[in-house]
Amino acid sequence: MPSHTDPRTSPADVDIPLPGLDLIPAPAPSAAVRRSRPYSSTLPPTQAAIDAFWSRVVKAPGDGCWFLISAISGVDGYTRLTWRSGGVSRTESGHRFALLLADQLSDDVVAEHRCNEPLCVRVDPGHVVASTQSANLRYAVACGRTGAIRNPDQHTNRHARSLAVRDALASGWDARAYARASANAAPLDTPSLF
Ligand SMILES: [Zn+2]
Repeated sequence: MPSHTDPRTSPADVDIPLPGLDLIPAPAPSAAVRRSRPYSSTLPPTQAAIDAFWSRVVKAPGDGCWFLISAISGVDGYTRLTWRSGGVSRTESGHRFALLLADQLSDDVVAEHRCNEPLCVRVDPGHVVASTQSANLRYAVACGRTGAIRNPDQHTNRHARSLAVRDALASGWDARAYARASANAAPLDTPSLF
């Protein structure tokens, strides 16, 4: 068995380059250098990061999800964005970045997917909402997702599903490709209430 490294500190999970979609044009430095780069949890989004974010969003029609085609963390199956300015960097999940752009992200805010689509970045009452930890947990219970907290397989399944959905939509919205990709991997639970 390979040794298990702490994935939260692994930059390889964060900066998966996509052709033509790199936020950072400079060549990637070594992992040691990256780990030592100053990190700021309050760094505001740069215009380049905002532009890159929107250039990666694929919108389903109507009230559908807005999918971020981006790096996906192997830790939790959610998208990640990293941007840099003034010698510091910051990484956020795509849905938290979306809340940040909407001026709805603060320290105690948990970004919640009401649509249960991990790649969705649409700030909307039916999609990504700013919530609190306790409200988020209540919603997870309503969705039957409490097992996910203790079951690491859920994260693995979400990662595989997110990769499949991202690849299916990399060239734009495709309802059939999305249905196929999201159905082939473990489906996400849907709430029985609400
Ligand atoms: Zn959505």
